[in-house]
Amino acid sequence: MTQQRCPLIAGNWKMNGLSADALPLAEELANRLGETEGANFEMLVCPPFPYLDSVAAMLRSSGVRLGAQDCHPNEKGAHTGDVSGTMLKDIGCDYVIVGHSERRADHGETDDLVKAKAEAALGAGLSAVICVGETEEQRDSGQTNDVVASQIEGSLPAVSSAANTVIAYEPVWAIGTGRTPTAAEVQDVHAMMRSKIGELATADDADGVRLLYGGSMKPSNAEELLALADVDGGLVGGASLNWKDFWAIAESCPA
Ligand code: PEP
Repeated sequence: MTQQRCPLIAGNWKMNGLSADALPLAEELANRLGETEGANFEMLVCPPFPYLDSVAAMLRSSGVRLGAQDCHPNEKGAHTGDVSGTMLKDIGCDYVIVGHSERRADHGETDDLVKAKAEAALGAGLSAVICVGETEEQRDSGQTNDVVASQIEGSLPAVSSAANTVIAYEPVWAIGTGRTPTAAEVQDVHAMMRSKIGELATADDADGVRLLYGGSMKPSNAEELLALADVDGGLVGGASLNWKDFWAIAESCPA
């Protein structure tokens, strides 16, 4: 049985922009979505921490969902500089990205830590966007499927389900580089991911979980990528900083 999976178009703003950029960007997206009847996608933006609260106020009742780019595995305590899932939920977030390759690389995040963060997010009532993806060296040596399968196995909490977890496949070498795998390569990895999730969770979860592609997605390649059978949306970095590009990507979702 194949479930209907509503595409999720998620913008990861990373450490970009100031409030003078974040608020107009959020406002444009809120306005566009407000003018759109029966949108065939769900839209999510993930601003930097300092702007979450003001962007939350801007997006209120707009239908554009709010997410953060990370959370701590604990709910509270002596963790200077960290932010908990409970705090994110409290200020209006619905989602949090965990295990982005930039955090895995810059902060040494392991699959175990990513899993703990995802568990904390789910415990706080957020949905987790768990990122996985191979490096260029791993791809060149034919390890893509093994690396991605092992990241999924190591990072996915037992309590994950299609309703509370999204997985983003982001080849590290495609992030911010303008390079992407071919559509056939993306589909192969996504099909493998869905079958791996079938081994770890229920068949319904494997069928219903949304699998996003991320890595240099832009208006010119979005239609082809979003049309793939096992691609259920995109995690977009650079192109999400320009509302016209991000909106054009969302409008590329298959009807
Ligand atoms: C990302 O970092 O999540 C990403 C996909 O970036 P970009 O779209 O800029 O490649």
